[in-house]
Amino acid sequence: MEALQALVDTGYESMWMHVRPDAVRALYNPVLRERLRWYYAVLRGIAPPKFKLVRSVESPLQGDELQEASLEDLMRAHKDAASMFRDEWGPALEEPEKATRLARTFPRWSLLHLKAELAKRLTSPCILCDRKCRVDRASGRLGACRLAWDVYVHTAFLHLGEESPLVPSGTIFYGGCNFTCVFCQNYDVSQTEARRGFKATPRSLAALQDLLAARGARNINHVGGDPTPSMHVIVESLLYVRSDIPQLWNSNMYMSPEAMEVLVDLIDIWLPDFKWGDNRCARRLSIVPSYVETVTRNLETAARHGDMIIRHLVMPDHIECCTRRVLEWIASHLPLDRVVVNVMGQYTPQHLVERNPRKWRDIARRVSREEVEEAKWYASSLGLYLLD
Ligand code: SF4
Repeated sequence: MEALQALVDTGYESMWMHVRPDAVRALYNPVLRERLRWYYAVLRGIAPPKFKLVRSVESPLQGDELQEASLEDLMRAHKDAASMFRDEWGPALEEPEKATRLARTFPRWSLLHLKAELAKRLTSPCILCDRKCRVDRASGRLGACRLAWDVYVHTAFLHLGEESPLVPSGTIFYGGCNFTCVFCQNYDVSQTEARRGFKATPRSLAALQDLLAARGARNINHVGGDPTPSMHVIVESLLYVRSDIPQLWNSNMYMSPEAMEVLVDLIDIWLPDFKWGDNRCARRLSIVPSYVETVTRNLETAARHGDMIIRHLVMPDHIECCTRRVLEWIASHLPLDRVVVNVMGQYTPQHLVERNPRKWRDIARRVSREEVEEAKWYASSLGLYLLD
């Protein structure tokens, strides 16, 4: 417990309002309250976080049945139970007060137990993300994300630099990432030192989330690297979290469809990073295949199930191939009256690009003010709602 406390001991609890007054104003912003209405309802204590709703639904498989079931049987049972959950609870998600009334049952074996077991099975052989390495992580083999079974927390703190509705954000940085971005600003956490840090169990991770909540976090911000390779422990941790705190998935959105099925009922607000509009750019600079198809598929799924703030990091010399296409896709495929977009202009060349700028000439400079302005102007002209 002391180690956990040291992790979150930031001293920010009382000063964040002075550092980020816009985060206070965001609480009363009527547009944000409407677009992110589920998240705000949980934040204000009007509705429970979704994981508590899932915890109140009985699982069709109980006790030993969960461990003994084959992956196919688990997936079938999950499909049936999750679709009943969505039919029954989906309308309640639009009515937060009703959701609170419905969440007052506590079965011994819940849909969350079923999800936790399924997430573990999807990890060995691993198909948590769309790389689908199929390595047996439980036996110690590393996937492309540089992780075997264990999950590592590198830091956890009240983050004051996130988007205004999220601050202070109870951010947990997990080691490992399924991308290999040549410009990564967190390359130690995601790539070179992925397996350093605090080895987290489901119970210690739950305690960490409760500590962050007690320190005043508005949400639990699962990030990395990327949180997807760690989701088997994250999902199980939700069995033990006590606080009514919204769950936020801060991700490159490269999850497999199977992993998305587990996550969609648990995440209150999504914070996707949608960077590339062209697969050739993604393959060359993030070393990842089929980026556009995978990420857009998951964005559409996530938008059907929860609130969302989409981040787009403007990259130098990638306005035509990426920024315009990303913004156009958002405007034409996601509900314009629900989505919030953050066009980000803080790119600076780091990691391999910094060391070898001639190899990645296009992104070997900071993004210009003109490029960022153009991106914001184009987003507004498409009718997207932009955060300041
Ligand atoms: S999370 Fe993705 S990259 Fe990591 S082992 Fe699984 S499939 Fe491979």
